[in-house]
Amino acid sequence: MTFAAPATPSSPHVMNTYARLPIALSHGQGCRVWDVNGREYLDALGGIAVNTLGHNHPKLVAALQDQVTKLIHTSNYYHIPLQEELARLLVERSGMTNVFFCSTGLEANEAALKLARKFGHDKGIERPEIVVYEKAFHGRSIATLSATGNPKVQAGFGPLVEGFIRVPINNIEQLKAATANNPNVVAVFFEAIQGEGGVNPMHMDYLRDVRALCDARDWLLMIDEVQCGMGRTGKWFAHQWAGIQPDVMPLAKGLGSGVAVGAVVAGPKAANIFAPGNHGSTFGGNPLAMRAGVETIRTMEAEGLLANAEKVGAHLKAGLEKALAAELASGAVREIRGLGLMLGVDLSRPCAALVQQAADAGLLISVTADSVIRLVPPLIMTAAEADQVVAILCPLISALLKEAA
Ligand SMILES: *Cc1c(COP(=O)(O)O)cnc(C)c1O
Repeated sequence: MTFAAPATPSSPHVMNTYARLPIALSHGQGCRVWDVNGREYLDALGGIAVNTLGHNHPKLVAALQDQVTKLIHTSNYYHIPLQEELARLLVERSGMTNVFFCSTGLEANEAALKLARKFGHDKGIERPEIVVYEKAFHGRSIATLSATGNPKVQAGFGPLVEGFIRVPINNIEQLKAATANNPNVVAVFFEAIQGEGGVNPMHMDYLRDVRALCDARDWLLMIDEVQCGMGRTGKWFAHQWAGIQPDVMPLAKGLGSGVAVGAVVAGPKAANIFAPGNHGSTFGGNPLAMRAGVETIRTMEAEGLLANAEKVGAHLKAGLEKALAAELASGAVREIRGLGLMLGVDLSRPCAALVQQAADAGLLISVTADSVIRLVPPLIMTAAEADQVVAILCPLISALLKEAA
């Protein structure tokens, strides 16, 4: 195999929107990737919770190769059988009823926000308001960055979109107080496990309480499962651990295992809000993207990847807890949070430097919310690979914390 020449780490032609590591990846296999210089890395980032089936999965590769020879894109002017098939697969696994397809997470969330506003207008609410959360991340379009609870994401882009009420997570009394006597509220919108905000899970009781409140007040419950969905926690969707169902559920990231696919799944309360002309997306639901989604779901089932995510995730969490027992006891590691293969190691100090140190040691990770190491590997990860994550990462964490002490 021949590889392209190494990319320049900072190209004069690519817009400067990312603080990139000086690494250019060339190819991958399973949970491993290699850079253009032939160095091997264990991938515990999975393209930020995207590469569900890992790299170069034979089933996905064959399906995509077959699909590009047939149709890549048509238009939503026509019926797209693969779209109908992926919609059916998502409806069956969510218990919801109808799906709109787009290409990214923020687009899925934009559609959700439009659904909520029109839901309000349809019942005579002229200025609908949507409850959103501290530390939330919903994307970087003007509306989704306005819904996001991170001042860094919003800085420089005002005026923000109006119509949001912000509350802290896991506090039903504050949600009730913030919405008391407000007839304009139409929806509550949150991630079942906040990703970018630092791997912060909503409590099961809280999820059930919000569902009951939405029912009592006739609000839409909208759960952003862009990062925590698609089997990552061991169930298809993270909210399913609480035994509830949302009215609106945006998806993206892991849905196409690396091919850009976004979707909004709606239940009966939200399924008929849009009519022709209300919403659309040129690329949304195209045959190549839909084939990727269908093949991802079928392969996940054939290979038992939900059970694997739950089992290997628990194994990884236990391994981290054991290796970091002293740091947890001292409080230097505040908490190890998350479910399945969506884990966060929350340190008592900023730790962005660990990303490069881990890469130098052959491991790809990310740090989010300044002090939280985020592990969101492909769902095919084995227990042996999880052990390797622990073996590489934990000594680096210990050293960083000692240096700080
Ligand atoms: C990544 C993410 C988004 C945005 O997805 P894009 O595809 O980058 O637009 C939205 N919500 C959540 C929870 C995410 O993790």
